[in-house]
Amino acid sequence: MKYFPIFADLDKAHVLVVGGGEQAAQKVRLLRKTKARITIVAETVNEELRGLEEENAIWIVLRVFLARDLEGQSLVYAATGDRVLDAEVSRAAKARGIPVNVVDAAELSTFIMPAILDRAPVTVAIATEGAAPILAREIKTRLEALLPANFGKLAERAHALRGLVAKAVPDARSRRRLWERLLQGPFRRAVLAGEEAEAGRILAAELHGGDAPAAGLLLGRVALIGCGPGDPDLLTLKALQKLQEADVLVVDRLVNPRILEYARRDAERILVGKTPRGPTTSQAEINRILVREAQAGKVVARLKGGDPFIFGRAAEEMAALQSAGIAVEVVPGVTAAHACAARIGLPVTLREHVRTFSVVTGATADGAPDLDWPSLATPGAAFAVYMGLSNAPLLRANLLAAGALPDTPVVIVENGTREDERAFATTLADLTDCVAERRIAGPAVIFVGLDWDAAGLCRPESVTLHHRKRQSAQDRASAEDIANANVESTP
Ligand code: SAH
Repeated sequence: MKYFPIFADLDKAHVLVVGGGEQAAQKVRLLRKTKARITIVAETVNEELRGLEEENAIWIVLRVFLARDLEGQSLVYAATGDRVLDAEVSRAAKARGIPVNVVDAAELSTFIMPAILDRAPVTVAIATEGAAPILAREIKTRLEALLPANFGKLAERAHALRGLVAKAVPDARSRRRLWERLLQGPFRRAVLAGEEAEAGRILAAELHGGDAPAAGLLLGRVALIGCGPGDPDLLTLKALQKLQEADVLVVDRLVNPRILEYARRDAERILVGKTPRGPTTSQAEINRILVREAQAGKVVARLKGGDPFIFGRAAEEMAALQSAGIAVEVVPGVTAAHACAARIGLPVTLREHVRTFSVVTGATADGAPDLDWPSLATPGAAFAVYMGLSNAPLLRANLLAAGALPDTPVVIVENGTREDERAFATTLADLTDCVAERRIAGPAVIFVGLDWDAAGLCRPESVTLHHRKRQSAQDRASAEDIANANVESTP
């Protein structure tokens, strides 16, 4: 180890930044997380720094750097962008024994800047001794994902409680165990969720040996977590945090198994949901499992594909939990339509052309959906059909009967964002043929009324054009002729 990590107290300390451009502004942004008194010395400064001076957040000296600027400074940053000037600042600071950092020049610096993860008062500094700053950034991103944005609140709360806890639990070993319980259990969750009253109840119960049992200690809780369409990179930070808190995972079959790798390894797993032609757990049974697990005091993560509120039967699960008095929280996820559209670069609304975009289901509990076909067939209305594969013929027939044009663009994305993703561009007239011919069977979104042309974009190469086979013999016929021919063949 060449560089030794320490945390410097900059409260009211004087810090000098030499330079007035973006590099200097970057240092100032970081320094402003502290209460340091920041002075800038530069011949010119950018707008951001000028603005900060107007707010009295920094002090600016508009002239060339002079060695006497170092007087009384605790730290110095050379960020002028001018190698010669930076070196001069470095020499002058070293001569006075003041720690100096020169941007992008470790050899001129006596200290280097780590990547900083700020959850003050919890602060993580990561450095690679300049070997590979990108790795430091990667570690920082991973930690960001692990620690909720208000993680510092937990440390502040612990700090405030230190005296009280020390008095209530004099024995050091018991006290350590109490702290572990507080900072890892229901108290932590209540603090992070901003449930102050609940946190207070749990604390009281812990300190007074259970004579005032807290609801949070007896009952678990459930998070309905949207896990997106498959690619784990589309998980939200919140989903990741909730996943890692969970004692038990109740997992939909639509959830990509790769996502489970982000959960705690010791978390119990319960697979539920439907597989086509496979085992099925009824919704009532899933509701019972959620209530049972939470009543056992566990933190339950209910993992759902896409977003829980879009064709996710979230309402039934929430109602069952609410009527059992169990707290339930919803974490939104990227829904299949949005993820699939992004994969193939297909905007779902378009100025002037597509003013409404809806999501509809192609299947209902009793089979075929009864949708508002005339409004779906209106020009300028685009929509995404979920669960639409088996009813594709019905979808096509109803839309055409309601006046949709046969050459209305249709795009189908199967297994979107997964390794086996496939996408096809076709027309409403050829929809059924495309599904059958290409053997589309995995989860798929069918987009109707959207295409790249209208948006002035190119269809990506990964999207296969599909037209009925017999059309290839009539290559030169106009699209309209072809479409009409297909309509006539509709039963
Ligand atoms: N709550 C989910 C939808 C569940 S309904 C969401 O917000 O995405 C199940 C339907 O979602 C499937 O029939 C399919 O239409 C769609 N779907 C889910 N995952 C998909 C994926 N990876 N690619 C394409 N469609 C998907």
